[in-house]
Amino acid sequence: MATIIRGGTVVTADGSFPADVEIEGGRIRAVRDQADAGEGDDVVDASGLLLMPGGIDVHTHLDMPVAPDCATCDDFYTGHRAAAFGGTTSHIDFANQQRGDSLRATLDRWLERAGGKAVIDYGFHVTIVDPSPEVMDEMASLRGWGVNSIKLFLAYKARGMMLRNDEFFNLCRRARELGLLPLVHAETGEVIDLLEQEAIAAGRTEPRWHATVRPALAEAEATNRAIALARMAGSALYVVHITCQGALAAVRQARREGAPVFGESCPQYLFFTADDLARPGFEGAKYVCSPPLRTEADQAALWEALALGDLQAFSTDHAPFRFEDQKSRGRERFDAIPNGVPAIEHRLVLLWHFGVNQGRLTPEHFVSLTSTGPARIFGIYPQKGSLAPGADADILLWDPAAAWSISTATHQMAVDYDLWEGFTGRGRPVKVWRRGELLVDGERWLGQAGSGQHLRREQAGAQVQG
Ligand SMILES: [Zn+2]
Repeated sequence: MATIIRGGTVVTADGSFPADVEIEGGRIRAVRDQADAGEGDDVVDASGLLLMPGGIDVHTHLDMPVAPDCATCDDFYTGHRAAAFGGTTSHIDFANQQRGDSLRATLDRWLERAGGKAVIDYGFHVTIVDPSPEVMDEMASLRGWGVNSIKLFLAYKARGMMLRNDEFFNLCRRARELGLLPLVHAETGEVIDLLEQEAIAAGRTEPRWHATVRPALAEAEATNRAIALARMAGSALYVVHITCQGALAAVRQARREGAPVFGESCPQYLFFTADDLARPGFEGAKYVCSPPLRTEADQAALWEALALGDLQAFSTDHAPFRFEDQKSRGRERFDAIPNGVPAIEHRLVLLWHFGVNQGRLTPEHFVSLTSTGPARIFGIYPQKGSLAPGADADILLWDPAAAWSISTATHQMAVDYDLWEGFTGRGRPVKVWRRGELLVDGERWLGQAGSGQHLRREQAGAQVQG
């Protein structure tokens, strides 16, 4: 039995056209005029609606421990349900190495977390914090395990995650040899740690100091340095969660010079500023993430970079912590507030309404930023990020006229606040298929825990080779 989605407009990164889409066996069978429905086929009327490839969020942190008794509060079930309601059908999370651990043990631990719960398809970047000779050797196995990207930190020295310049360079060189794409969290770790310790010692303990001790120049410095080191190593580079003009300038310049450097930003950086960290009481803790929220000028620069193609992906860095009993760990001092914000559910609707409806982005560019671009960079195109015949049938039936409003009372995320509380807009998914299986039908949730598959990414991204 096939599913025929009839009478809609197909929107891809390359163009839009009216067509019927046929799904069979979890894949797209055909995209054409006037599909014939066979006996028993399920026919969906898409008149007036758009069909887009399912969203791909390449930066999330589900069920991520940050302390022995504290982990992000969405696991691979609640996080996937929230993602799917928001139109995201695949994501790439992070398998974080602990010092001394092998990469295999690291990946296994995270595969275990996802396994029985997953509903959308998921992959992992492996975070390397301890590049021992054994780990450098083991990197040769990563692609065979379905992992073609590694995450490297230039921040968090005191937490034992920061790499020295020689380590970062050497990892990029090894990545280049093996066809892996390095991702970088670029902030000047040593200086931030110093400023943070000084602030705490001086009694500056409220949430707003979190932004003060992590200045935009620290991000700009580390982004410039990461790009230079990656280029010295002959490696491509993907810069995660870009927030500010200085970091954007570094990425833009490298790309102009023909370097394979890619960048993403995230919704929180488009809507909020460091002033939100100074909200009365302890409210500012809800806005604590790293890098921190910046200024309105940075927001404008990020929108412009998304529109001009200086940024190639829009992801979330979804890292939800409950206000009540998790963010509150930092009531006495901001450096104890778990870093991160909940966003996995709202990525597409926010970018559609404030990007497409407000004339900043075309619908095709929206698809590129939320799905096709990341699929290409991370080597899963055209299985994902495409509506071509043979692709996985990850499809959004999108109603551009449907109104939405955001509230903690109705969101799917397992977190007790929402940064976008009270926001309203138009354009949202009304049906969501993952590999041909209907996960979301209007308000109804049909997803089954354990049906999501590990997304094996053996291929290097097309733009990473060479
Ligand atoms: Zn992150």
